[in-house]
Amino acid sequence: MGTTNKNNSTLTLSKKEMQDYGYRVVDAIVEHFETLNNKPPVALATRKEMDELLQEPVPEEGKDANEVLSFVVEQVLKQNNILSHPKAYAFVPGPSNYISVMADTLATGFNIFSGGWSMSPAASELELVTINWLLKLYGFPVKKGGGIFTSGGSMANLTALVTARRFKCGDDFSKAIIYLSDQAHSSNIKAIRICGFRKEQIRIIPTDMDFKLSLNKLKNAIAKDRLEGNKPFCMIASAGTTNTGTVDPLNDMAEICKNEDLWFHVDGAYGAAAILSKKGKLFLKGIERADSLTIDPHKWLYQPYEIGCLLVKNHSWLSATFQEKPEYLRDIEGNPSEINFYDFGMQLTRRFRALKFYMSVKTYGLGSFRKAIEYNLDLAEKTEGILRKSPYWEVISPATLAIINFRFNPIIPSLSEKQLDFINQGIVKKITKARKAILATTVLQEKVVLRMCLINPRTTLEDIEDTLKDCQDYAEDIITSL
Ligand SMILES: *Cc1c(COP(=O)(O)O)cnc(C)c1O
Repeated sequence: MGTTNKNNSTLTLSKKEMQDYGYRVVDAIVEHFETLNNKPPVALATRKEMDELLQEPVPEEGKDANEVLSFVVEQVLKQNNILSHPKAYAFVPGPSNYISVMADTLATGFNIFSGGWSMSPAASELELVTINWLLKLYGFPVKKGGGIFTSGGSMANLTALVTARRFKCGDDFSKAIIYLSDQAHSSNIKAIRICGFRKEQIRIIPTDMDFKLSLNKLKNAIAKDRLEGNKPFCMIASAGTTNTGTVDPLNDMAEICKNEDLWFHVDGAYGAAAILSKKGKLFLKGIERADSLTIDPHKWLYQPYEIGCLLVKNHSWLSATFQEKPEYLRDIEGNPSEINFYDFGMQLTRRFRALKFYMSVKTYGLGSFRKAIEYNLDLAEKTEGILRKSPYWEVISPATLAIINFRFNPIIPSLSEKQLDFINQGIVKKITKARKAILATTVLQEKVVLRMCLINPRTTLEDIEDTLKDCQDYAEDIITSL
């Protein structure tokens, strides 16, 4: 289109220019979706290389729009790991889906302000509608319950913690104590610290051999705190730990919270999505007893970044915690049934996150999401079967909510723990260097293990077999060089 955007102080393009540019953008995204399976998922670049490529003084003069776009597509977008790649196994992948990508594009295109009712009645209503879908799914009361979409699980956990502190502690939380397991996600500790709790107010409860929070140790810790005059106020359970997919004993923890008058927060950022499958629902029994629940649609509900979500048993808890009534927002307050989501969390100006969830569920149907999640659970179990049959691999934690941990540990030759750690770490180094898969280690029971999180519905058993074969070859290389 050859636009030179010099002296374009209204920041506009002509209709034709916008169309041409927009089609190019869509073409680039579609091309990415179409070809990503065949591309290396790993991007490797040093700070120095990126500095050389991208550092520049802010340009005073504009440049041809297509030139800038091509540069961005080629040099910026492509130099990042592809987390929706079928061989992205590490951390928590982001499988995403095209409908939601386009929904995000629409939300941005129309620049919807999703803060208050009077600015965006339909966007507010859609957030209510989709939050209601989720409340129902998790057995929360639909009328009384409430929730809010956030940027991700970390913000949802922080929002929950701030609410819990407000309700259980009021203004003096100097003696308040919070309990969570050694497998709980680090964002919870971050949230606790942001809230202003001291390190001494955090009790990290050890997990048992199954990586579940140990109830006895929890009870003892609470009893000890009461004896010492501390004030237990909140417990965080993991519904699917990031390491192993393990679900804490939710019912038992809920019971303790009830008896001890503690706030029960469930961090389901990783695993809560599994409720869509029959098997997952069994795993997650008791999740409906949470006071607050974090879910994270940009993980296992296949949404592109960013969208997290916090659900609460009583929507007035959120408004009582976050509502301020400044004079400059008087005119948009509206009537009480017309919810202003800026009253439910930290953000005033918020993007329209509900739209992508709404459009993808409407388009594919929740049934497709259920099938995808069932497929993921099955895939992890099949992977476990393959590993258990092999003389090279040892399963360290069984397939749980689509996560499996294992290590290379051949029957022959027999290797020391130190050698095994070295080999398994080496496998990840080599496969990353070869850019063949996004694979990472974690540490369980003091062993370095490989971890696969299999929540991409487009990952096939062949992909996994292929990766295991690569890993085995690397392991043999390493053994030869020992
Ligand atoms: C990923 C994760 C989080 C953090 O969520 P973000 O969306 O990355 O902010 C919190 N808790 C658990 C269990 C997670 O897996």
